[in-house]
Amino acid sequence: MLFEIEIPTREEFELIDVTPIIEEKVRESGTKDGIAVIFTRHTTTALLINENESGLLEDVKEFFESFIPKGKGYRHDRIDSNAHSHLRSIILNPSLTIPIKDGRLLLGTWQSVIFAELDGPRRRKLFVKICEC
Ligand code: ZN
Repeated sequence: MLFEIEIPTREEFELIDVTPIIEEKVRESGTKDGIAVIFTRHTTTALLINENESGLLEDVKEFFESFIPKGKGYRHDRIDSNAHSHLRSIILNPSLTIPIKDGRLLLGTWQSVIFAELDGPRRRKLFVKICEC
């Protein structure tokens, strides 16, 4: 079963916990044991799994802003001004695979699925493919 989810983002760089949305789709699919593949089709978004703690999310943003700063004379900025967003996306992941057990995502206690908007605000799409297996 394939679900398409709209994610309207509000900031240029935003980390959004999408775990409740994915869990809802797992329930809707009726899958008890299987896998969920979560995929973003954009070149300036990404997915990650980590703890949804406000301080940590600010640390993650600060890390990327200093590791890959904006406007560092990148060639792609000549046409699009968002090379830093592409580069940040490249070192993250466009997809995640999570096992489903007893009708729920098999995430650890402190794990959340986080959607990273790296060049917002925009209307984004997230795909969730859920298979019984
Ligand atoms: Zn671009």
